[in-house]
Amino acid sequence: MDWSKLYAPTLKESPSDADIKSAELLIRGGFIRKSASGVFSYLPLGTRVLQKVTQIVREEMNATGAQELLMPIMQPSEIWKTTGRWDDYGPEMMKFKDRNDREFTLGPTHEEMITTLVKDELRSYKQLPVNLYQINTKYRDEIRPRFGLLRGREFIMKDAYSFHTSTESLDQTYMDMYNAYSRICERMNLMYVAVEADTGAIGGSNSHEFTVFAESGESNILVCEKCGYSATQEKAECLDDRKSTDESLKELTLVSTPNVRTVDELAKFLKIEKAQIVKSMVLVGKSGYVMALIRGDLEINTSKLKSYLGDQTLRFATPEEVLEKFSSQIGYIGPVGVKEIRIIADNSVKFLKNYVVGGLKNEYHYINVNHGRDYEIKAYTDIRVVVDGDRCPKCGAPLKLKKGIEVGQVFKLGTKYSEKLSATYVDSDGNEKYYIMGCYGWGVSRTIAAVVEQFHDERGIIWPRSIAPFEVAITIVNMALPNQFETGRKIGEMLEKHGIEVLLDDRDVSAGFKFKDADLIGIPLRITCGKSLENGDIELKLRNSDKSLKIKAKDDELILNTVKTLLENYNL
Ligand code: ATP
Ligand code: MG
Repeated sequence: MDWSKLYAPTLKESPSDADIKSAELLIRGGFIRKSASGVFSYLPLGTRVLQKVTQIVREEMNATGAQELLMPIMQPSEIWKTTGRWDDYGPEMMKFKDRNDREFTLGPTHEEMITTLVKDELRSYKQLPVNLYQINTKYRDEIRPRFGLLRGREFIMKDAYSFHTSTESLDQTYMDMYNAYSRICERMNLMYVAVEADTGAIGGSNSHEFTVFAESGESNILVCEKCGYSATQEKAECLDDRKSTDESLKELTLVSTPNVRTVDELAKFLKIEKAQIVKSMVLVGKSGYVMALIRGDLEINTSKLKSYLGDQTLRFATPEEVLEKFSSQIGYIGPVGVKEIRIIADNSVKFLKNYVVGGLKNEYHYINVNHGRDYEIKAYTDIRVVVDGDRCPKCGAPLKLKKGIEVGQVFKLGTKYSEKLSATYVDSDGNEKYYIMGCYGWGVSRTIAAVVEQFHDERGIIWPRSIAPFEVAITIVNMALPNQFETGRKIGEMLEKHGIEVLLDDRDVSAGFKFKDADLIGIPLRITCGKSLENGDIELKLRNSDKSLKIKAKDDELILNTVKTLLENYNL
C-alpha cells in the first residue's frame, strides 16, 4: 500500500479532549475519530487493527467449537420485561420507540435475545451443549464515557452464550473459554491476569475477569506474587487471623463528642487509634435496612455485602433516611440500643474489645463497647475492602494492589435466564428442564486501547506484530531521487508477494516527518531507502529498538530472510 493514497490523517498535536494516552495516540495516528462522547469512527488504519483483533478472537472462539452468528442490535422490550431487566438494567440501557410506539433497546448485552432465539428450536438434550457467539456493536449509555475506546457508549464486543444439560458440561465450556481468552491475550503479547470476579448484576455462581495490567486502568486487582492468588478488589479476600486478647471488659460509658463525626475526628478527639473504633454503616435494599460494622481503619466493600445478602439493590442509606430511622445523625450511628435491624459485622470486629462506637444520639459516642455484652451481632463475614499489603487468603503473603483494564469476563449463569424466559429442553428421561447457561464477553474495541496503553513510548504506538496495521514501513527519504523510490517500491512488491504487509511511504514530505509518522503509527519494522543506498545498502530498524542494521539493497533473498527473522524475533 502506498502511503500517499492511504487515508490516515495524522496530527502533530494531541487533541485537547484526549483524556488518556491510547486515545491521544489513536487519534493522532489517524486510527479513529470521535463523533460524540463515547462514539467513534474507525479510519482505514483503525479498521485494519480492528479486523485483526476481531480475527484473533474469532479464530480462538472457533477453535473451541463455538459457532458464530449475528443477532439484531435492536431488541424488543418484551423479552427484557420478562426477565425484569427492562427496569433493573438502569439508565445505561438506550431505549427508543418506533413509529408505532413500540419500545426497543439498542442491546447492551444479549442474554434475553439469544435465549429467546434458541428456546423453541433447541429442544433436545441431544442438541446440547452448544456455544454461540457474535461479534457485534453494543450500546451502553455509560455515566462517564471516557478514555477513548476503553469506555465507549457504542463499542464492539464478542459475546458468547453456552447452553448445557449439566454443570459439568458448563464447567468444561467455561474452562475452554477461559483458555481461549488466555490465548487471545498471548497472541497480542499482553501482560494480563485472569482474576476471580464478582458476578454483580449479571448474576450466576462463578466468574473470572481478564485484566490487562496498565497504570491507567479502572480495575483494581490484588495479586499474590508468592502463590498466584488474584482477584478483583470487589471480590478479593484476605487473611485475618487475629486472636482474642485476655484484656478485661471495661464499663460501657456514653461520652460527649460534640461536632465529632468522622473516624479521623473521633480518633483525634479521644486520642486513640482508628483501629479501636468500630464504624457503623446503614444500608438499605429490597430486603430492608441493615447495619454493617467494620473496624475504623478499614472500608466496607459493598459488593461483598451485596453478594452475602443476595441483594443487588443494596445501597448506603441517605442522611435523611438515617435520621428518620434512628433519630440520630449519620455520624453518631452505632449498634448499642438498636432494635429490629440486622447487624452484620466484618470479621475484623470479632476479637475487638473495649472499642468505641456511635452513641445513637447526636454528639455522643460509647466507649468500652463489647459485643455479646452490650449488643448482639447476627453474623460475621468478610466485607472489607482488601488493600495493598493485606495478607493473601491462600498463603498469607502480602498482597499487591495493581491497576488494570478488564478486557474480558466469563460467567457461569446457571438457570437464571432460562428460568425467567421459560427456556427448556427435553432430557433423556422425557422431562422438561431449564438450560444451564454460561456467558462470555470480550471487549474487542477496548482491546485496541488496552494494547496501546501497554505498548507505547514518547514517540507513539508500538503495535504487537499480530495486530499491527502493516508489518513493514518503507521510508523513501528523498522522493526526488529515483534510485531511492525505485528500490523502495521493488522491495515493497517483493515482500508483499511473500505475504508481508507493507506501507510504502512515498509521500512528498520531509524525511523527518516520515520517520515521526512511522513511529507514531507503530509499524513493527521500518526499512529506510536513503543516503546509505549510495553504498548499495538499505537500513532496517525495529520499532522497539534503537539499533539499525544495513544490508544490501539488491539481495532479495537476504532482505526477505532478514525481514522474516526480525519480525519473528520482534518480542511483541
Ligand atoms: P466494566 O466493568 O468495565 O463496565 P462490564 O463488567 O460492564 O465492564 P461486561 O458486561 O462483562 O463488562 O462486558 C464484556 C466486555 O465488554 C468487558 O470485559 C469489556 O471488555 C467490554 N466493555 C464493557 N463495557 C464497555 C464500554 N463501555 N466500552 C468498551 N468496552 C466495554
Ligand atoms: Mg459496565
